Amino acid sequence: MNAPGTSRRWTPTPLIGGAVAVHAGALASLAVAPGAWPWAAGGVIASHLALTAAGLWPRSSLLGHNWTTLPESAGACIAITIDDGPDPDVTPRVLDLLDAHRARATFFCIGERVRAHPRIVEAIVARGHAVENHSQRHRHNFSLMGPRALRREIEAAQATIGEIAGTRPVFFRAPAGLRNPFLEPVLCGLGLHLASWTRRGFDTRAGDAALVARRLLNGLAARDILLVHDGHAAQAPDGAPVVLAALDAVLRAAADRGLATATLREAIAG
Ligand SMILES: [Zn+2]
Repeated sequence: MNAPGTSRRWTPTPLIGGAVAVHAGALASLAVAPGAWPWAAGGVIASHLALTAAGLWPRSSLLGHNWTTLPESAGACIAITIDDGPDPDVTPRVLDLLDAHRARATFFCIGERVRAHPRIVEAIVARGHAVENHSQRHRHNFSLMGPRALRREIEAAQATIGEIAGTRPVFFRAPAGLRNPFLEPVLCGLGLHLASWTRRGFDTRAGDAALVARRLLNGLAARDILLVHDGHAAQAPDGAPVVLAALDAVLRAAADRGLATATLREAIAG
C-alpha cells in the first residue's frame, strides 16, 4: 500500500497482456500472410469480447487489482460502503443511524453532489466517516470513455472532494461498477485504489428493506465489504428510503456476530 495520493506503477494483468499480444500477433501475421486476415480479425474480436466481459463484471480483478474484501489485517471488521450521495434528505438520516450503532462507513460520493451539498459532506467527515471518489458526474457511459475522459472525470472528483472534505480520496468506485481496460492505469497515476464489494443489496431498485437486508446478510463474515446507497435510494411502500431499515438490520446482525465496522482507509492502514 503506497502512501495516500502517491502514484503507483501500472502493471498489466495477464488478460490485458494477452490482449496486447493478440493484437501484435494479428498485425505480424497480416504482414507475412495477408490471406490469414479472418484468423487475425477473429483473434482481435475475441480479445475485445474478453476485455468487455471483464469490465462488465464489477467484482473481477482481470483488468487490475480490485478490493472485494478487506485485507486479513482487518480482523473481525466489515466495511459499510454507501454510494451516490450526498443526498439532502437521506444522508443526514443515515448519519444518525450510523451514530446510533457507533458504526463507521465509507461514502463513495459523486463530485457534483458534493459541490451541491458541501455542508453534508462536512458532517460526514466530522462524524468520523470517510469520503471517497465515485466520479464527478456518475455518467452511465463511464465504461465507454477513453483514458483522457476517464482521467478528467476522476480528477475533477478528486479536486472537488479534496477541497470540501479536506482530504483527497484514496479509493475509487466506478459508476455501476462498470469499467474498461483504460481505468487501472488512470487510477495508478492518481494514486487511487479500485474498490468494489463483497455483496450488494440492490437497494436502488428493491422497495423491500427486509429483502435488501437478507441479500446483504447472506453469509455475512469478517472482512466483508457491503454496498448500499444514500443517493438514488429506493423507497419502501411507506415512503421511507429502504437503506435506513436495511442498514439498521445489517448493523444489528453484525453486532450480534461480534463484527465491528471500519472505513476502507482504516482497514487497509491495518
Ligand atoms: Zn453509483
